[in-house]
Parts: sequence; C-alpha cells; structure tokens
Amino acid sequence: MEEISETAKAYYANLSGKQKRLTTDTFQAIDANGDGKISFNEYAQYLKQKGFKILSSPDFFRKLDKDGNGALDFDEFITVHYICSSKRVYFCDECRVFLDGVYFTCVQCFNGPGNTYDLCCACYRDKDVNHHKDALFLDNYTLLQAKRQQNKDQDKNEGASEAFKLATAGIETTSTLSAYAAKSFASNKSAVQMKGHEVDALLKWKDNLDEPTNCLLCSWNFVPHNSTSSDLKADINSSPCQWVGITCDESGHVIRIDLSFSGLRGTLQFFNFSSFPNLISLDLSHNFLHGSIPPTSVTFQAHVSRLGC
Ligand SMILES: [Zn+2]
Ligand SMILES: [Zn+2]
Repeated sequence: MEEISETAKAYYANLSGKQKRLTTDTFQAIDANGDGKISFNEYAQYLKQKGFKILSSPDFFRKLDKDGNGALDFDEFITVHYICSSKRVYFCDECRVFLDGVYFTCVQCFNGPGNTYDLCCACYRDKDVNHHKDALFLDNYTLLQAKRQQNKDQDKNEGASEAFKLATAGIETTSTLSAYAAKSFASNKSAVQMKGHEVDALLKWKDNLDEPTNCLLCSWNFVPHNSTSSDLKADINSSPCQWVGITCDESGHVIRIDLSFSGLRGTLQFFNFSSFPNLISLDLSHNFLHGSIPPTSVTFQAHVSRLGC
C-alpha cells in the first residue's frame, strides 16, 4: 500500500486550500463519533455509500491502517479518499488481489474497446497465464513511455529514431517493447481492408523469413471476413491494415511499413516491392536482414522516400 499512499499524499499536497478543507470536512463527516479517527464500521459505511463496497472488507481496512491502531487517522484516510475520487480500483485478473502498486496490463486489451486485462507482478512472473494469443504485457511505466512515443511518432513520424535513442541509452528491451506497443496503438486506428494482392505479398515475405525470435509478426495472420471461428474473430489484429507495423491509406493500399527494431531475420529476396504501388516509407532498420535488394525493385525504390535497412 506504500506506493498508493505516497501517491495520495502527493496529490493532497497539491490541492487548493478549499479542496483541502473539503477533504477535512469529508473526514469529519465519516468520523460520526468525532473522535478524530475512522473506525472500521464508519469506514465500511462510507465506502458502501460511495459505491466501493468491494473495498469495505476488514482485510483491506487493515492494509490502510498502516500504524495498526485499528482506526484510520487523517493521513491514512487520504489514501481512501484518493482511491475513491480517482476510481483507482483495479484487481489482478488472475488472483483478484487489489493492485496497489505497479502492475502489468495486456496492451491489446488496453487499446481495445472492452475491459483491460491486468496482472499483479507475482502472477505475471509466476503463472502461465492463458489470456489470448499474442498478448503483450507491459507495466505501467513502460506503457506510459510507449504512449509518449506514439504521440511523438504522430508528431514527427520518426518512431525509429526515437527507438534508437532509447536503445543507445541502454534500455534496448524496453525500447523494443515500447516500439511494439506504439505500433500496436498506431495500428488500431484503421479498419480499412487491405488490397488482396498486398496481403498476399506481405504474407509471402513473412513466410520466407527465418523463424522469428519474437512474436512481432504474429498479428500477420489473415482471417477472411466470413470466418466462423470465434477464436480467430476475437483476434483484434485480424484486419491486415491493423497488423503491427503496417499503415494503409483510405483505399486499402499499404503506404508505410515500419518494422524497425523487430528482431526480424532473413532476406528481402521475397519482398515484392512492385506489389506496393503506394508505399512511401519502408523502415526495416535494426533487424538481422541480410542479402541484397532484388534488382527489379531498384527503379521502384526511387519512389520510396524512406528506405532504412
Ligand atoms: Zn495476481
Ligand atoms: Zn488482452
């Protein structure tokens, strides 16, 4: 409970005088017998009124009662007040423990329209979580960093160089995850259907790459629209324009491929440049690709404004 109570204190310190008085008033209103402390019964009644019955257990009360005197003083109450007003009420989706500090969340679910899927550190570390295919879990801090990178990418369209700066700063793993998450954020914006021959060309290249060292291209699986498999339909990345690293224009042509820092191994031999007439940017930098670019594509490359390999 240490992290959440420190957070609460920091917020409280930044409240205006009026807001602080309101907090004191709330404390006094809950403290029905006016002894300057909130008993368990007073606490439970307050939480039920606020609609947080789920937190009104004696167990949770004991966690808040840091000095263990059986009641909440004003400093301890600030934590409750913060939890209720910020609605920071998250539980581990595996073990149901209250998430009072850093936790891991599934990036795909975080980006999706439904519920998030959150895990406490212990469950993410120890359990063989069977969530969904390709689920990528990031902790709060890394997710925040990824979100920031996504904003930067939108502003400058220079995701690769940002990732490179992070990598050279010595946090390569984090930057790769952030880059992946940022690509996931970006790829969710479009629901356009990709042109069939471009889908085929991407899949052909993917199939001829070496065994992937990570699951970056796991989203590259084409599911026909009339598929009846609920499992496949549940895959949020099933539309090729939403695949990781891919951006389409409004007519479904691929215009950008950004797979920098993706751990890809293999050659460009099976990458058919002529299949992507609208491609303006291809960034495959910082991978393990070898061999030369097919000669037939040389003329075409003149039209690709950014080709990083
Ligand atoms: Zn857990
Ligand atoms: Zn998920």
